[in-house]
Amino acid sequence: MRLEIPPDHPRAESLRTREELVHYWKLGVVADAGLIAHGRGEAFDYLLGEETTAPAREATWAAAAHLLLAKRPVISVNGNAAALVPSELVRLSRVVGAALEVNLFYRSRKRLKAVAAVLEGAGAKHVLGVGGRGRGGAAIPELSSMRRMVDVEGIFAADVVVVPLEDGDRVEALKRMGKLTIAVDLNPLSRTSQEATVTIVDNVVRAIPNLTSTADELKGAPASKLRALVGAYDNKRVLGASIGLIAKRLAVLSKTSATTEQVPVVKRARR
Ligand code: ATP
Repeated sequence: MRLEIPPDHPRAESLRTREELVHYWKLGVVADAGLIAHGRGEAFDYLLGEETTAPAREATWAAAAHLLLAKRPVISVNGNAAALVPSELVRLSRVVGAALEVNLFYRSRKRLKAVAAVLEGAGAKHVLGVGGRGRGGAAIPELSSMRRMVDVEGIFAADVVVVPLEDGDRVEALKRMGKLTIAVDLNPLSRTSQEATVTIVDNVVRAIPNLTSTADELKGAPASKLRALVGAYDNKRVLGASIGLIAKRLAVLSKTSATTEQVPVVKRARR
């Protein structure tokens, strides 16, 4: 049974998201550790003001340009991403012509199927990484976690991989394979954020719809414009800007000695 959340609760949106995750955890889509990872994300979202920041927008433009320039883009989907943004991921895959592939750290046949079923329920026609040829089709070299198992037609052959809620090891391994990675991670300090080609420091519930609409807007733009966008982008600089925003916000808040109820920014976009 899902919890009734009063619409006027000051943190209604955040509570609804938690309920969604718990619901999918009970169905075996979200791993136990996925709930903990979400808590870490929420903490950073709080620090960022729970809204899409200017550095996140800049990263989104570069990410959209990379996806439109890619020959074989793939979106890697784990339990949390499937629980939080299933139809948004399907929409993104259509707009940029990317394949959807299930890839799990806590991997079991049952969970792979459960995550794929959520994507299919959201309209995905073909999900890679589960069953058939995708069954352990290939492995990422020098990676010990179960996330090394990839589809030969998907991540293994991809040139650009979208990795929402990823772990740092695999981003490094994908980089060694010559792939470009687009991470979505609320923690600008994580190894994932630091290692990815482009990191969108934002909540996945805001970042994926923003990425889709930005890609839609850029579709049809000349390749020279897309190349200029990716050429001008520097992930370290943009991550530094996200960290700077947190520092500035904390400096302001520390001076007001306000309680969280008095802090002005608590906005949360709905998917
Ligand atoms: P790394 O291996 O990259 O250093 P980690 O060990 O912190 O990272 P995980 O424990 O797998 O990695 O955590 C997943 C990451 O996802 C965390 O950095 C967390 O901030 C982020 N995260 C969790 N929920 C969300 C969300 N809804 N949107 C965006 N990022 C999120």
